[in-house]
Amino acid sequence: MLEAGLGEALLRDLPRLSAWIRAIKETGVVLSVKVRANVVDDVELARLIDKAGADIIHVDAGNEGFGTDLDAILNYRDATRLFLIGNNSVKDFETAKEIFTRGADMVSAARGVLENSELIQELVENVTSYQQSIGWYNAPKHVCSDGDFRGLAFCCLPVKPCPVHEKFRKLGYTAEEFARTKLDFAKGTMLEYGEDTCFGSLVWCCKITKPCWIRDGVLNTIELSDAEYMKLKKQLANYVLDHARIPVNESH
Ligand code: SF4
Ligand code: SF4
Repeated sequence: MLEAGLGEALLRDLPRLSAWIRAIKETGVVLSVKVRANVVDDVELARLIDKAGADIIHVDAGNEGFGTDLDAILNYRDATRLFLIGNNSVKDFETAKEIFTRGADMVSAARGVLENSELIQELVENVTSYQQSIGWYNAPKHVCSDGDFRGLAFCCLPVKPCPVHEKFRKLGYTAEEFARTKLDFAKGTMLEYGEDTCFGSLVWCCKITKPCWIRDGVLNTIELSDAEYMKLKKQLANYVLDHARIPVNESH
């Protein structure tokens, strides 16, 4: 394959990879490009695939002997908004969940299925019930715990020094613009409530998996379920990314 200039060899010839993606897309197909992480600059590669017009990036994030390279998944997530499939060492729902929190929309499994023929069914059942209970099965981590851009939906009002500033700056926001964008989204939604929370509104509140009796008390009072709260946070994350001055695939 390599001698024929195919497979991984294409990663060393990015202009050719880009030209092939463009040519294949002209046929009208939905195109998924499978790549191996840590071979070339992953951010550059993700952006090239995105700009060439592919629909899906499927990342083999192998980490020789150490399972999935979760940082590699995160690098792809913060370089493109394309649909992302995370691959490597998916053996159970727990490993899949780790990959989801780094931004994968889907996971793929290979060896895990050989070891457990029920794996796909188990993953489908677990992802489905997790989605039903949490409302955002691939919700990101908080930005201060290495969350991707989508984690800005869980960020506080930017009034203290913390990683949020660096994160929104990469998207071209000033602190004031970032705050205004979140408040604009909240207007007319249930996220406007929460006077007693840390920053006066649920729009600044944490991920539902972070225990907080104040937020949960507000959710109870306004009769907003955990899943509905998280669905609004997901919409908020998209809104913040949609309104960025610098698109994700050009952020730096
Ligand atoms: S704003 Fe809050 S949630 Fe976001 S990075 Fe800072 S401390 Fe963490
Ligand atoms: S009230 Fe709770 S959930 Fe909201 S920002 Fe404060 S700690 Fe986070």
